[in-house]
Amino acid sequence: MSEPNRSLNCPRCSSAMEPGYIIDVAYGTRAVPKWVAGLPQKSIWTGLKLSGRDQIGVATYRCRRCGYLESYASG
Ligand SMILES: [Zn+2]
Repeated sequence: MSEPNRSLNCPRCSSAMEPGYIIDVAYGTRAVPKWVAGLPQKSIWTGLKLSGRDQIGVATYRCRRCGYLESYASG
């Protein structure tokens, strides 16, 4: 997972935003969400087909003042 190398200010209240990430929790596992190229295709085996798709980890910034979230999948 990579993050933009810059400090961000909240587009709503202009306060500083801190880097972080949102986790997916399922069946006792924890994982960082990923951006996947294209439209979602259902799979009866895994829920979604992902083979051959580009996948990029998602970094999410949070405004310390108002809680606004902004996400980046910058590869
Ligand atoms: Zn804010």
